[in-house]
Amino acid sequence: MPNRTIIVGGVAGGASCAARLRRLDEQAEIVMYERGPYVSFANCGLPYHVGGVIADEAKLLIATPSFLNDRFRIQVKVRHEVLAIDRTAQTVTVRDLESGRESTDRYDHLVLSPGANAIIPAIPGIDLLGVFTIRTVPDARAVRDWIDSRQATRALVVGGGFIGLEMTENLRHRGLAVTLVEKADQVMPPLDPEMAAPVRARLEESGVVVMLGDAPTSIRSEAGALRVGTERGADVVTDLVILAIGVRPEIALPKQAGLELGPRGGIKVDAQMRTSDPHILAVGDAVEVVDLATGAPALISLAGPANRQGRLAADIITGRTDVFRGVQGTAVCGVFGLSVAMTGASEKSLTRAGAPAAGVVYLHPSQHAGYYPGAKPIHLKLLYRKDGGRVLGAQAVGEEGVERRIDVIATAMRLGATVEDLADLELCYAPQYGAAKDPVNIAGMIAANERNGDAPVLPWSAADDIGFTVLDVREPDEWTAGHHERAIHIPLHQVRDRLTEIPRDRPLAVYCAGGQRSYYAVRMLRQNGFDARNLSGGWQSARHRAGAIARGMQARNEAAG
Ligand code: FAD
Repeated sequence: MPNRTIIVGGVAGGASCAARLRRLDEQAEIVMYERGPYVSFANCGLPYHVGGVIADEAKLLIATPSFLNDRFRIQVKVRHEVLAIDRTAQTVTVRDLESGRESTDRYDHLVLSPGANAIIPAIPGIDLLGVFTIRTVPDARAVRDWIDSRQATRALVVGGGFIGLEMTENLRHRGLAVTLVEKADQVMPPLDPEMAAPVRARLEESGVVVMLGDAPTSIRSEAGALRVGTERGADVVTDLVILAIGVRPEIALPKQAGLELGPRGGIKVDAQMRTSDPHILAVGDAVEVVDLATGAPALISLAGPANRQGRLAADIITGRTDVFRGVQGTAVCGVFGLSVAMTGASEKSLTRAGAPAAGVVYLHPSQHAGYYPGAKPIHLKLLYRKDGGRVLGAQAVGEEGVERRIDVIATAMRLGATVEDLADLELCYAPQYGAAKDPVNIAGMIAANERNGDAPVLPWSAADDIGFTVLDVREPDEWTAGHHERAIHIPLHQVRDRLTEIPRDRPLAVYCAGGQRSYYAVRMLRQNGFDARNLSGGWQSARHRAGAIARGMQARNEAAG
């Protein structure tokens, strides 16, 4: 008898599992149940459909049920919800949502890919018309219809993570005035706060009203509009509300079936995506995975891992023995011309996991040779293990070339690279694409110089420590435009001749604009017997840090009343 596999959920993880299974087993019976009206749709494209960038809804439908049947002989049943699993009988109970009829179906293997649900805050008015989440094609259609039919001009987006920012950009693109409210003291919470500072600045430059450290407490319908009250007492009148405050794994079915859950509340799976029942596998947003950087259990809602896990589940069902090697949360988001990308650990995630403090370097190189027209900075932060130098993570923000650098670092991390390996990578270079020393190489070199003691780095918090003398080696015009309050000023080209003016009683914290000239100064000074260290990322990083601190202090002051 052919092996019969039932798949619950027909989008990222479910559809890739089904297609892979057919490629591996021509005889298998494959049935895919999907609660919604579509399978294999591009949920990642939904914000851009709302914004009109992807004008045609049909472009979001990557594969239809008939296509999946014709090409792969997969029986696809849309508008069918799997209600229950009988693990002893190896059957599922399914409801046809059109007719209401229920039936049972038998499986040899069951693959759960039910995804995640949007978190909906329990506040008065949350059920009002005009309050939306964005998970499905009908969700996006409803937002578009609402904007068109009401001729909406104002929107409130709740949540400043990936989806909130993408929705913000797309609603602005449609000409709406957008207010963004985010509970944390920063936008894009997966980033460390100083790396989020330029993202917030770009949002505000693009006309978005950004309310940090705040959250809605009530929504009222009033004179054809919605009035949203917030924790801090703000009162925002808007035409629609988009909720994007995060997701929770969809675990109704595994709970009903008594499958084991993990400490983060997702379905517990082994490295071969098997649940606590060997006949049931689970993949995608609903499962808990191992965070490669910290080794901690994690919930990661990203399309890449869901697709890889779906593929792996098919491999395991057909007797292969591969394993899932964990996730590192490699992600990118576009925000009004800025790309914001990250991979692996942040300082925040390491602290949360109780991991030892990481080595950290900042840099702001151009995406390509500075002499070639159009050079623009990439703000890059690299984290690595102090002991051994293994790369732990990176974050980058900039207009061009950002995702390429993060992808390179993500790949290197996957292969266990150290910062010395990054320094040694051979990467593409022509003036319009990069530099002979690519930003990734430079990040590795700075970290390697820190590790071997050639040019130790300091975080900017050290500049506030009176145990250090702060030395600014920039040019006079840069000094005049703004400098650290305790700094002494000696431009780099004068340092050699003015060594006698530099105090030797305390270590030196040296900075320039981005870290390069201060590196030269540090090398010069160290060879002259000074304990000189480089304030990582220079004045540019000081400004990012100041932006993040000012925001945090403002939020705390406001919270204190
Ligand atoms: P899903 O793709 O969500 O599919 C789960 C399906 O299961 C749903 O269609 C649901 O209806 C169905 N289902 C649930 N329970 C049942 C049941 N009992 N019976 C039948 N069917 C059921 N990730 C990125 O990497 N990059 C991006 O740019 C990106 N952008 C995104 C933008 C948006 C607006 C959204 C919503 C997500 C985005 N993601 C992005 C995340 C990515 O789409 C998800 O991580 C991925 O789709 C998860 O795959 P999955 O198979 O686990 O779940």
